[in-house]
Amino acid sequence: AKQARQGGYHFHSPELGRKLRERRQLEQDLREAQAQHQFRLAYQPLVYLGTGQVSGGEALLRWHRPGHGDVPPDRFIPVLEESGLIGAVSAWVLETACQEAARWPARMSVAVNVSTAQFRQPGLYEAVEGALRRSGLQPHRLELEITESVLMQDTPETLATLRRLRAMGVRIAMDDFGTGYSSLGYLRRFAFDKIKIDRSFVQHMAQDPNAKAVIRAVVNISQTLGIRALAEGVENAEQAELLRQEGCAEVQGYLFGRPMTPEQFATLHGPGQRA
Ligand code: C2E
Ligand code: CA
Ligand code: CA
Ligand code: CA
Repeated sequence: AKQARQGGYHFHSPELGRKLRERRQLEQDLREAQAQHQFRLAYQPLVYLGTGQVSGGEALLRWHRPGHGDVPPDRFIPVLEESGLIGAVSAWVLETACQEAARWPARMSVAVNVSTAQFRQPGLYEAVEGALRRSGLQPHRLELEITESVLMQDTPETLATLRRLRAMGVRIAMDDFGTGYSSLGYLRRFAFDKIKIDRSFVQHMAQDPNAKAVIRAVVNISQTLGIRALAEGVENAEQAELLRQEGCAEVQGYLFGRPMTPEQFATLHGPGQRA
């Protein structure tokens, strides 16, 4: 809109006008969603491949946009980040995930996604500390998933915050492993607790020997470094079998469970001891 007003465009296509209106409306609706508590969390099981036991759940943000239906997080999270709403929403995610996980059996952990925008704002450490204290969840049961883009910012503060969180006992996982430019480099620079092998490798491993070789290598590296490896996006039994052969200990994917409501997740793992 700004560009158009500043005269960057000499014509104003109806298409562009429509897109800008839609975008403004989406931002407006997200503001309301935040104010009116329309966000929900879904939990997807993380599973030990050997035993089938659920090791925990990944919290995934859900929004049912009134009049539009469910909007995928990939579509609205960037808008939250650009509009400055991400701080409030991610604080809510952290708080809610910790509260809900505190009711799960003690062997189970909860994984929460942390975006670059969250690292750019001060107070992430304090927010995590507060959420743990208020929920009573033990720090080792909280796992923060970060992508390479968090580390790419490469500010000393980012690494310092990660180290402080880890010193508190919180686990740190590297998400979407293998999709960035220097995933391996980051393994050297920071002591991750878990590597989540990106779904794209799992998707192709049955047909593509290269994808399989990468998975094998990552599993080997993780074992050498003493890091847990989890394969994402496991959709069929063939993939699960191949991952078993490669020695991958943990999996996540539609084969083992889709993201589900907290109530469904609770029945999945059975009654837990209240913390
Ligand atoms: P992600 O962290 O890589 O999360 C995994 C995504 O893969 C989820 O999509 C999940 O539903 C999907 N998935 C799981 N198993 C399978 C499978 O077997 N096959 C396929 N095709 N997909 C599978 P979702 O829920 O749409 O989330 C998309 C992305 O949005 C997430 O990717 C994450 O980057 C972001 N996101 C979600 N919730 C949050 C949040 O609370 N905070 C932040 N910062 N980002 C979030
Ligand atoms: Ca994730
Ligand atoms: Ca991922
Ligand atoms: Ca992703």
